[in-house]
Amino acid sequence: MKIPTGELKNEDCRLKNAKSSPSRDNQSAIFNLQSAIGLSMATEPQIVTRRMVAVNPATGETLREFECAGDAEVAAAVEHARAAQPAWEASGVQQRIEVLRRFQRLLHARKEEVARLITREAGKPYVEALVNEVVVALDATRFCAEQAPELLLPEAVPHGNPIMKAKVGRLLRRAHGVVGIISPWNFPFSTPASEVVAALGMGNAVVLKPSEFTPLSALELKSLFTSAGLPDGVFQVVLGDGATGAALIASPIDKLVFTGSVSTGRRVAQACGARLLPVVLELGGKDPMLVLDDADVDVASSAAVWGAFVNAGQVCLSVERCYVHRSLHDRFVELCVEKTGKLKVGDGADPQTDIGPMIHERQLRIVEEQVNDAVSSGARVLAGGRRMPELGPNFYAPTVIEGVDHSMRIMREETFGPVLAIMAFDTEEEAISLANDSEFGLAASVWTRDRNHGEELATLIAAGTVLVNDAVIGFGISEAPHGGVKCSGIGRTHGKLGLEEMCWVQYLDSDRLPRMKKTWWYGYGPDFARQMEAFTDWLFAPSLFARVRGAVRSSASLWRRRL
Ligand code: NAD
Repeated sequence: MKIPTGELKNEDCRLKNAKSSPSRDNQSAIFNLQSAIGLSMATEPQIVTRRMVAVNPATGETLREFECAGDAEVAAAVEHARAAQPAWEASGVQQRIEVLRRFQRLLHARKEEVARLITREAGKPYVEALVNEVVVALDATRFCAEQAPELLLPEAVPHGNPIMKAKVGRLLRRAHGVVGIISPWNFPFSTPASEVVAALGMGNAVVLKPSEFTPLSALELKSLFTSAGLPDGVFQVVLGDGATGAALIASPIDKLVFTGSVSTGRRVAQACGARLLPVVLELGGKDPMLVLDDADVDVASSAAVWGAFVNAGQVCLSVERCYVHRSLHDRFVELCVEKTGKLKVGDGADPQTDIGPMIHERQLRIVEEQVNDAVSSGARVLAGGRRMPELGPNFYAPTVIEGVDHSMRIMREETFGPVLAIMAFDTEEEAISLANDSEFGLAASVWTRDRNHGEELATLIAAGTVLVNDAVIGFGISEAPHGGVKCSGIGRTHGKLGLEEMCWVQYLDSDRLPRMKKTWWYGYGPDFARQMEAFTDWLFAPSLFARVRGAVRSSASLWRRRL
């Protein structure tokens, strides 16, 4: 297998290169990939040289080791999914929804266990795992079960042109076939779950390649679907790193839904472009929060603190840039610092914990570098701004920083860590211009007591989602489409638009007069040209008289001789 070495962050991804076969001792610890993806391979298994380790980011404890799936295993999973898909689609939407509802019931019954697993693997506080992962997945399933049947009904396409009136047009939404899903680690359960549910509901089979940092959550998802009675092969999980993801893109999938960073997204887009594979790209964000001069400063500061620190700031929709009207700035900053001081950092498994660890050391280093860069250019750290090795390997203190500007990396690059960077503005024009001064365009928020004014300003911001008087939560609204503009991505997941992405549209048209040769067929000549001039007048002449005359004169075309 060719491994694009530049794409594998070996040290950080906890990937190990094993030049030889795993030792006997290790073999028992290594999860059998074939059983994970539900395959029985007739051919000799290929020698896989890369392994990955799931680690508890709070403690550094190894949870489990895995072999990365190679090209052959990815291809086999896709083939298996392709074989299973037609029957799944043919089973009908009601039958499919039955399976989704059984999945929902099982997930609900096992909510504590699943949330605890997510906390162990991704570090987030248990309550966040429960609400932002399990509940989001449950609700995405509810939404799909409610919406998919209607969306899959033929949609009438009435014809306005009188010459087309004998035809009946409809839009049919058809499953792509096999949808590949590549997902990140920050929402290791709800991100793939909501996409898998949508893809399955619309009649596709799915091959999921989860993040190499969070394989256990994906396997749990697969296990729940298996217990729910999803037919064998319809949903496969292939475990691995970037090279495994690349193999999935190179395999004969019919659509890809990718969620991850902008840099990987660019590579993914190129690979998809080369084979014209339709793709949804859910990429990074640098979301601005605009606090207008009439905002409730207590409410807005609480929102900023939660919006910047939830999941240790490792949220694509987190508040990464906070712009506050100068009249409120000092009080706002003071409140943010005070509220940050009350937050408890620790192991997410501890119910007292507000902020868990970051996922790995590399992510922590990015945050540290950006904070140091800002400080060296004159920014002031008012809270945090340091690692917390006393708690474990990956903890970074929630950080409030002011005196930042757009020359600093912290206001331009995605931070993806627990940092609240605050900057004052004087006019709303300036605030909008700062909000739009970014290569990202995922989401934004506007804070004001005047909702109408907030909505007006929202339309001036280039972002896929703008919330007035709330932040981050768009991902938790199953009805809301999720996705960005500019470098934040292409296409949408969630909501009806997310379901639409899981199918292709066929236009079906049938003519009610099968025994009639069409007016526009051969048999041209000067008379026909004049009749068509009259026809054009009938449709588009400015005066009523000319239109009526056109209708009468063009009607002769109905009786002309055709080839
Ligand atoms: P990442 O880009 O490093 O990895 C994402 C996934 O892509 C992983 O499964 C990885 O193994 C895979 N991958 C890596 N190289 C690949 C390649 N060449 N071909 C195919 N697949 C490849 O991102 P991450 O660090 O896992 O996640 C954090 C990023 O994801 C952040 O930038 C965050 O903003 C973004 N994100 C976006 C959304 C959204 O909905 N817009 C949601 C969550 C996270």
